[in-house]
Amino acid sequence: MSEILKVLKGTKDILPQDIDMWHFVEKTAEDVFSKYGYKEIRTPIIEVTELFSRGVGETTDIVNKEMYTFERSNRSITLRPENTAGVVRSFIENGMSRLPSPVKLWYKGPMFRYERPQAGRQRQFHQVGVEMFGIEKPVADAEIILTAVNFLKSLGLSHLEVELNSLGCPKCREEFKKKLKEAIRPYLNDLCEDCQKRFETNPLRLLDCKVEDCKYIYAKNEIQDVIMSDFLCDDCKAHYDELKMYLDKLNVHYKEDKHLVRGLDYYNRTVFEIKSKSLGSQNAVCGGGRYDHLVEQLGGEPTPAIGFAMGMERLISLLPKKESKRLDAYIVTNFKTDGFIFAEELRGEGLNVEFDLANKKFTKQLEKASKIAKYALILGEDEIEKHHVSIKNLDTGKQVVVNRADCINFLK
Ligand code: ATP
Ligand code: MG
Repeated sequence: MSEILKVLKGTKDILPQDIDMWHFVEKTAEDVFSKYGYKEIRTPIIEVTELFSRGVGETTDIVNKEMYTFERSNRSITLRPENTAGVVRSFIENGMSRLPSPVKLWYKGPMFRYERPQAGRQRQFHQVGVEMFGIEKPVADAEIILTAVNFLKSLGLSHLEVELNSLGCPKCREEFKKKLKEAIRPYLNDLCEDCQKRFETNPLRLLDCKVEDCKYIYAKNEIQDVIMSDFLCDDCKAHYDELKMYLDKLNVHYKEDKHLVRGLDYYNRTVFEIKSKSLGSQNAVCGGGRYDHLVEQLGGEPTPAIGFAMGMERLISLLPKKESKRLDAYIVTNFKTDGFIFAEELRGEGLNVEFDLANKKFTKQLEKASKIAKYALILGEDEIEKHHVSIKNLDTGKQVVVNRADCINFLK
């Protein structure tokens, strides 16, 4: 097939037969996040490149290798690879720090990363996420995690595991980084090229490497034994302990993963991921954490913040397949004008209704009705004359004749 008739590698059409699943996830997000007081925000898909290089971090994979960047009017512009930076930009630009805190925002939409396409990994994918601004206390961390867990529960997803860690603050993390590097240094030559670079620029990110040989090295006891929790300062430790206390009291099950770090630079203190055992190697459905310095770093008032993002394709792949929604009724008739008028009446009453636009034979119309609708509404000669309609239940085959005026009540 000619190249112009193929979607780009790593991108996908979301087809009508799958759209109900997407609507279900989006509607559930709106319902659950609203319960927790979040308002939806829609920011542009394009932003100034520097927002991401400064926000997400110069030394991250996303900024180094994965961004779709182009020039327009001497400006470097990037398709958003994630949405926290954009939401923070909007928070600052629109003076939202003047609003009573916390400010709670949620979003959904496409993100773009130039990654190697594989199961669970696309170049255009979709995320739904939340950001909460203004609260430094661990009660916010607990509520965010609960929001994520309850959203997943409302989707009907169980068997998901919350993994939790604290990255401390820039101060207490320094000592951890130093000790981690000491433990890893003997293996430096055996690490992948990326890790050799990260060793100096961003040693924490070593622990997030997906290369098997590297993972094998980092699983060694002397490296596993160097954990952030041993280096947390009093404040960071108290924050982490209080978060765990809330989660315990609220019956949120979690596992501490003492080497959990995240692919983006902006996190401090709490980081978490939610994973599904049934997803293979791309098994994270949710990643989140606290980013208390990002707002200030991008030029706003110092504002503590925390958030998470979930991959919608991965969520949808975990849901049972939904049958496509059927029309409420299909009008079967050779009296086009009557059919048209009747269809409009029913649509006006809120029903989803079609009638034959293609001049098909009566039997063909009935065939089509049985494929796409719950009821066939038949207007034959007799029905037209008496102002009746024959209603055929397309699941049971049962048919009744009613006054046309009673049809709505019958269908509802
Ligand atoms: P991973 O470790 O799987 O690469 P990540 O740490 O890069 O994930 P985040 O930036 O935290 O991911 O994004 C949050 C969620 O978005 C992930 O948990 C995942 O569900 C989803 N996600 C990230 N990248 C992709 C992608 N390329 N294709 C599909 N979903 C993705
Ligand atoms: Mg990634």
